[in-house]
Amino acid sequence: MFEERTDMWEQYAPLLAHAEHPSRYLGQEWGAVTPSEKLEADYHAVMIYPDVYEIGQANQAVAILYDRLNADEHVFCERAYLPWTDLAAAMREAGLPLVSLETYTPLSEFDFVGITLPHELAATNVLETLDLSGIPLHASDRREGDPFVFGGGPCAYNPEPYAPFFDAIFIGEGEEMDLEVALQLRAWRGTGISRKDQLRKLAHIPGVYVPSLYRVYAGPDAPAGAEFELPYDVVEPIAEDIPERVERRIITNFDACDALPRQIVPYSELVHDRLSIEILRGCARGCRFCQAGMIYRPVRERTADTIVSAIAMGLACTGYDEVSLTSLSSTDHSTITDQLRRLNKRFHGTGVGVSIPSQRVDAFGVELARLIAGEKKGGLTLAPEAGTQHLRDVINKGVTEENLFNAVTTAFEAGWRRLKLYFMLGLPGETDEDVAGIGDLCRRVYTAAKDSVPDNQRGNVRMSVSVALFVPKAVTPFQWDGQLDRETLMHRINVLRDNFPRKGVDLHWHDSMTSYIEAVLSRGGRECAELVERAWKHGARFDAWSEQFDFDAWLAAAQETGVDIFQTAMRSYEEEAPLPWDHIDSGVRKSYLRRERAKAHLAQTTPDCTFGPCTGCGVCLDRPVDNELEGARHV
Ligand code: SF4
Repeated sequence: MFEERTDMWEQYAPLLAHAEHPSRYLGQEWGAVTPSEKLEADYHAVMIYPDVYEIGQANQAVAILYDRLNADEHVFCERAYLPWTDLAAAMREAGLPLVSLETYTPLSEFDFVGITLPHELAATNVLETLDLSGIPLHASDRREGDPFVFGGGPCAYNPEPYAPFFDAIFIGEGEEMDLEVALQLRAWRGTGISRKDQLRKLAHIPGVYVPSLYRVYAGPDAPAGAEFELPYDVVEPIAEDIPERVERRIITNFDACDALPRQIVPYSELVHDRLSIEILRGCARGCRFCQAGMIYRPVRERTADTIVSAIAMGLACTGYDEVSLTSLSSTDHSTITDQLRRLNKRFHGTGVGVSIPSQRVDAFGVELARLIAGEKKGGLTLAPEAGTQHLRDVINKGVTEENLFNAVTTAFEAGWRRLKLYFMLGLPGETDEDVAGIGDLCRRVYTAAKDSVPDNQRGNVRMSVSVALFVPKAVTPFQWDGQLDRETLMHRINVLRDNFPRKGVDLHWHDSMTSYIEAVLSRGGRECAELVERAWKHGARFDAWSEQFDFDAWLAAAQETGVDIFQTAMRSYEEEAPLPWDHIDSGVRKSYLRRERAKAHLAQTTPDCTFGPCTGCGVCLDRPVDNELEGARHV
């Protein structure tokens, strides 16, 4: 039965009048779950994206989990987002806690609080969320009756910098796991099983990592690390019955999972304000810097029938006139051409637009873009990542100059006039020649683009280039590699500037200080949790927002904790040494990552297993899963 809980709308309403974008906090949107739908629910969950509404509400993972949890009649799952700094300050002044959007209930009254960990720069926002909610920051300080706080998402593959703040962290795809845990906890209610014992039992559910059940060894004290000088903490289970490694949960028969989770229509504009349908999961192209390409394997495609009918239903129930076919590599889907033709036919003349977020760097990718764009040609975005073929082979980008020039000339001949290219600086194995190569490549691409359009339209050609510092990530072949030291970075930036086209191409450089923080948290051990907490105490929050990022807060935290941000980010790890995330089993074998790193040193490439034979990453070899393709892919 639905229980009465504290509804704080009356206290909140006066504050919203003074908040920037009050629509962020209204709730009650079309499609949101209402208490009247959940009359049988007696277990209360809340899913939180630790950023503002317009970013969090667009997140597909949160939407899927919200839908999955609400599919059970006993569970009522609500949503919450982090208020912007103006409302957070007003809430603190008024003594109001963070509340859910559906019923304005304080988060501390929920049974299950799920916080997604989308990227490292959201770490301080997790603490801000807990603090505003009045929930103890540390799992060790939570008592019987406090909510269980769970984390999950891409950052969970190195959970240690977040470990003290969560009762458990879910590793892998949460569709089944979240509901399984919620129902299990519900079943234990009233049985007298202590919070501690419940967590110990949860640790036996595949995919559930309970940090308090793993002891920390600082650097050289680690038993397995004694022969190495470890600059980070490593962990091991406190008892024999606790799993040594936490196995990632993987969804099989992906096409049978609902392609259209419950749709909520916002009052205000979101960052991706359109219908989104996940047409496939996973990418096996094997870029050696890319964590997503490793942690979402194997590749699983939905059928064209499922996709087209989900889109038709989604557009009808939301009123959107744009749909995005999302995934890590949507243009690789084996039936993508069929899908686009069917969508064009079905929605011809209705004004419905289709978009694909990720673009293949070849002429086929542009052909698909042409199918999507029709006469409306916006900007084309391509990511060669490196300026020379040698470095693209090192990172296994699988893109040749021929691919790139074919893509550009095909696009500009077909009517595109704007192009954006993405590159990284500081990739392992990079030399000055590779950096100079970015400028040279951009100059030639710009010329090719101009040569591909009629003379009288050459002045309309626009090209911009975005360059960011490489961030090494756990569970990638480059997980052992540090970032560039600052002196070399400054030198490389100068090399880039000196060799960059003087006219016609805009150059944008992504702030490297945030990249250093990302690197610290992506590869650090549990010692980084204190760094995060101190940085938050010094005022760091919304670190992904350039106007909010406060590097001084991080430097102050570094001084207090002794974690040297630059040293930590730049340090390369020994391949044979234990890593802070060794107890997390992503499914991709460490031996494969080592092999891939060795091949990187030789600039040898590894093909995509969805276009050819298995290349031995281990996911399908060690688990009852396989690539699930709908047909042959377009090479
Ligand atoms: S195990 Fe083989 S087939 Fe499966 S994802 Fe890895 S490389 Fe591809």
